[in-house]
Amino acid sequence: MSEQRTELENLGEFGLIDHLTKKFKPSQASTITGIGDDAAVLSFSDEEVQLISTDMLIEGVHFNLMYTPLKHLGYKAVAVNVSDICAMNGIAEQITVSIAVSNRFPVEALEELYDGINVACKFYNIDLIGGDTSSSLSGLTISISVIGKAKKNAVTYRSGAKEHDLLVVTGDLGAAYVGLQVLEREKEVYNANPNIQPDLDGHDYIIERQLKPEARIDVVKFLKELEVQPTSMIDISDGLASEVLHICKSSKVGCHIYDEKLPIDGQTSMTAIEFNLDPNTCALNGGEDYELLFTIAQSDYDKIKGNPHMTVIGHITDEKSGRYYVDKNGSAIELTAQGWGHFKD
Ligand code: ADP
Ligand code: MG
Repeated sequence: MSEQRTELENLGEFGLIDHLTKKFKPSQASTITGIGDDAAVLSFSDEEVQLISTDMLIEGVHFNLMYTPLKHLGYKAVAVNVSDICAMNGIAEQITVSIAVSNRFPVEALEELYDGINVACKFYNIDLIGGDTSSSLSGLTISISVIGKAKKNAVTYRSGAKEHDLLVVTGDLGAAYVGLQVLEREKEVYNANPNIQPDLDGHDYIIERQLKPEARIDVVKFLKELEVQPTSMIDISDGLASEVLHICKSSKVGCHIYDEKLPIDGQTSMTAIEFNLDPNTCALNGGEDYELLFTIAQSDYDKIKGNPHMTVIGHITDEKSGRYYVDKNGSAIELTAQGWGHFKD
């Protein structure tokens, strides 16, 4: 190691990944895509590809056990991995689960975690095929790898968006982030006075979106039925703005997205306002919705028009035109990713 010391926050999460992995170039004929998409794409046959992705959840960083039931955590850990396979337009089939756990946890707690994993495996039709178990000095870490498949000509990369394509999101946005604000508020109230019961009334939808997100395996199915082949796709884990920018960067294109088009549930908006947050900002920068963001050719528009699961939020432009968020008055603001910035604070 040299004397030089560079702080992680100087690079940020994505900068760090680029920095550490830039010297690694795939050499195997079977590696179609390595680092840089929602899942790696491997080819062992002419028609199908294998998809592989890994995600890690750390206590205190990704979840707080004060308000996260272990069963939900197990479910979510699987769902977020399946979501990365959906983002490739594929179907998840197997997972491996690795845990590091401190002696603070009794066996019963881990049984609950695995109950949640089991419910998710049944719901998503996935086999648990292995993993690893280790002790940890403090807290719980869960790392899941998922294996899936897709038809070779159906795989969607982040890099396929073309000028004039439409940008589409599934479901609604911002709910998981606003749900987290409610849970954090009730945690503070509880810490101040453990006799006060948490007040979660009227927030059931957004809390569920935070604690028990779903991977959109249904959307992968709908797209196939509608005969829509997205030109690019990504799942929304870090926030819409961040994901739109990933697609633009990988595809070397620009975009316009429109604030009035963002799909936001009524409960999300009302609760955001309660917290003095702008609902659109929550939709744009709040993470963990695990909806899909994709682009389609304009000629496919009629196939998704009026579909209750899909909303057109903007379109792709050429790279030189920049990446913009357009408000109701027509003023365009350059799109920046707030995301989570894991290495800040
Ligand atoms: P996602 O948000 O879809 O889970 P990430 O932003 O975590 O994707 O990762 C982006 C890409 O970088 C993926 O291809 C992932 O496999 C790769 N990647 C992330 N961390 C590392 C690492 N420490 N070493 C090698 N590749 C990594
Ligand atoms: Mg992803």
